[in-house]
Amino acid sequence: MSHAELEALRERADEINLQILKLINERGRVVQEIGKAKEAQGVYRYDPVRERKMLNQILESNDGPFEQSTIQHIFKEIFKASLELQEDDHSKALLVSRKKKAEDTVVTVNGQPIGDGGQSFIVGPCAVESYEQVAAVAEAAKKQGIKLLRGGAFKPRTSPYDFQGLGLEGLKILKKVADEYGLAVISEIVNPADIETALDYVDVIQIGARNMQNFELLKAAGAVRKPVLLKRGLAATLQEFMNAAEYIISQGNDQIILCERGIRTYEKATRNTLDISAVPILKQETHLPVFVDVTHSTGRKDLLLPTAKAALAVGADGVMAEVHPDPAVALSDSAQQMNIEEFDHWINELRPLVKQKA
Ligand code: PEP
Ligand code: MN
Repeated sequence: MSHAELEALRERADEINLQILKLINERGRVVQEIGKAKEAQGVYRYDPVRERKMLNQILESNDGPFEQSTIQHIFKEIFKASLELQEDDHSKALLVSRKKKAEDTVVTVNGQPIGDGGQSFIVGPCAVESYEQVAAVAEAAKKQGIKLLRGGAFKPRTSPYDFQGLGLEGLKILKKVADEYGLAVISEIVNPADIETALDYVDVIQIGARNMQNFELLKAAGAVRKPVLLKRGLAATLQEFMNAAEYIISQGNDQIILCERGIRTYEKATRNTLDISAVPILKQETHLPVFVDVTHSTGRKDLLLPTAKAALAVGADGVMAEVHPDPAVALSDSAQQMNIEEFDHWINELRPLVKQKA
């Protein structure tokens, strides 16, 4: 074959490419029209019977040189792309996603913004044990300029024989301390029926890792007008985490803080494995503020400082850590809580790294 003949064939192939392109897009437009008509009739768009008929007709007409399986594969892709064209991409996107809302959501806790570009801290004991215990941490936190105090009143413990928390009594202690020290408080709620009660006592409702897929609890938290801090499940993918947040936002509450708290892996050096890359991924994919709980993700006091540094460096909106006046006698998570002196050191080391409001 001469060079000129080869060139002519190539030109012919180029022309056919453009014809195919034109036809594929023409088909796309027809399918879009079909989609609109189906929507008007309220009919579900994917129709396997119709797809099978089309495929059969195509295969019966195929006289090569492509094999049936090749033709089937190519047309299957065209059908799939057409179906996607019928589905409006915008409407499919989650409400928590940046596709749906490009700007950052700022969560306002007691007048304090979270997610406005600044970085902040949540500290406090694992569990509320007594007024004196919570007040001691509140005093230390306040001295360090921290605005949000944590403390568990309802504790989701691995064993039913472990300390389960003081319940409502614990919430009352938190509220008293919050009022006295001018702090906002966050506490975990484990039962949908307790959400209403919590409104009177806490500024942020925490939903714990073990309840990340407690859908009734998520819906109940979504139905109230109170900020929610949602922790990532022990073995939850980021997609599952975002869908859990979607349960809350879909009920009308967009005041959600996501919290990475480590996931289960085969690594035993730490209590959980801190998935630090979850922070920039969640920041990219969603418009919600993201916190990192360094205590439960590591379970090790010696890692609280380096992991908190990492969280701040990677762009978290804040860090959560557990602080107890006398960790040795704590009723839960004794080994991993900082005492006041350790907390002071920790926060002083971190302060120069904290980003102020943009
Ligand atoms: C907590 O923060 O008190 C707690 C129980 O953490 P998690 O749900 O992440 O285990
Ligand atoms: Mn704890």
